[in-house]
Amino acid sequence: LIFLGLESSCDDSAAAVLCEGPVGTRVLSSVVRGQGRLHAAFGGVVPEIAARAHAEVLDLCVEEALAQAGVGPEKLNGLAVTAGPGLIGGVLAGVMTAKGLAAATGLPLWGVNHLAGHALTPRLTDDLPFPYLLLLVSGGHCQFLIAEGPDHFRRLGGTIDDAPGEAFDKVAKLLGLPQPGGPEIEREAAQGDPRRIPLPRPLLDREGCDLSFSGLKTAALRARDALVARAGGLRESDRRDLCAAFQLAVADILAEKSRRALAIYREAGPEVPALAVAGGVAANGAIRARLQDLCAREGVAFVAPPLALCTDNAAMIAWAGIERARAGIPADPAVVARPRWPLDGDAAPLLGAGK
Ligand code: ATP
Ligand code: FE
Repeated sequence: LIFLGLESSCDDSAAAVLCEGPVGTRVLSSVVRGQGRLHAAFGGVVPEIAARAHAEVLDLCVEEALAQAGVGPEKLNGLAVTAGPGLIGGVLAGVMTAKGLAAATGLPLWGVNHLAGHALTPRLTDDLPFPYLLLLVSGGHCQFLIAEGPDHFRRLGGTIDDAPGEAFDKVAKLLGLPQPGGPEIEREAAQGDPRRIPLPRPLLDREGCDLSFSGLKTAALRARDALVARAGGLRESDRRDLCAAFQLAVADILAEKSRRALAIYREAGPEVPALAVAGGVAANGAIRARLQDLCAREGVAFVAPPLALCTDNAAMIAWAGIERARAGIPADPAVVARPRWPLDGDAAPLLGAGK
C-alpha cells in the first residue's frame, strides 16, 4: 500500500508518502513547511494568515513529497488528510486539497483525527501491538489514553488547564526566546542549573493522573520578574537556570503522573504492555529520558518516535490512513473539517479511572 498524507491543522503545511510492505512501513518522503516567519511579528499563530498560507503551499508540498518519494500519483493506493481538530481555516484548506486530489485520481480518501495521527505514530516506527498506554503531549493537548485500535482510545486523565507545549511556548515568550518555545527552552536548559530556582509541581498531591500546567507557567513568570528586579534585566545565566528549572518541573510532573497512569491501568486488570509517548513535547530529550527511566524501573517497554515524527508532520496522517484502511474502516469521500474532535468521543470510560 502506498499512501499520501496531508496535514494543515496548525502552522505547518505537510505532505508525506508512506509505503507499507511485508517487512513494515517506510516513510518515502515527509515534507514539512513551517510558517514560523509569517507569524513571528504577531507573537502567535494568526488563523487567517495560516489558512491562506496552507492554501498556497499545500499543492507544492504534495508535488515535493511525490517527487522525493519517486512515486507518481498512479502508484498511490489511498489518500489521508487531517480533518480536525485544529484551526478550521487550515483544516479546510487541507480537506479541500485532498478532495480535489481524490476527484482527480479516483483514489479513496480517509479523514484522520490529527490527535490519532500523533497517537498511532509509535506503531509506525515500532512493532507495538494494541493495546498500549499513551501519553499524548503536544502544543494543545496532554492526555493519558489507552490505545485499543486505530479508532478506539480510552482516556484515563489529562490536563485540567494548559497543555505542556503551550506552557513551553509561553515561558519561552516571556524569556524573550523565539517560537516554537520547546526546542529553545531545551537548548537553554542544557546549560542551566535546574535546582537553583524552585518551581511548583501542581496537582502532584491529588490522586489520579490529571495534570495542570498553568500554575507552573505563572510561577515561572513570577520567578522571571524577581530575577529581573534583582539584576536590572534578565541575565543569561538566570534565563538558563529558569529554563532548566521549568523543564525539570514539567518532566517531574509527566513522570509522576505516568507512574500513576500505569498503576491505574494495572488496577483495571490487564498487564501493561508498553508506555508510548507522542506529540511535539515528546521531542524533548530530558522528558524522554525521564519516561525511559520510569519504564525501566516499572518493567514496562517504552516507545518514543524519532523527533521529526513527534512534532507535526504528514507521515503520521498517512500512517493513520493506512491503519484505518487495514482495519476495514470505509473511506470517507465526503469528509468534513471539524474544529473540535476529542479522541475518546464514543469510547466507554475505563472502570476505576476516576474520570
Ligand atoms: P496539537 O497536536 O495538540 O493539536 P500542535 O499540533 O500545535 O498541537 P505539536 O506540533 O504536536 O502541537 O507540538 C508542538 C509543540 O511541541 C509546541 O508547543 C512546541 O513548543 C513543543 N515542542 C517541540 N519540540 C519540543 C521540545 N524539544 N521540548 C519541549 N517542547 C517541544
Ligand atoms: Fe500536533
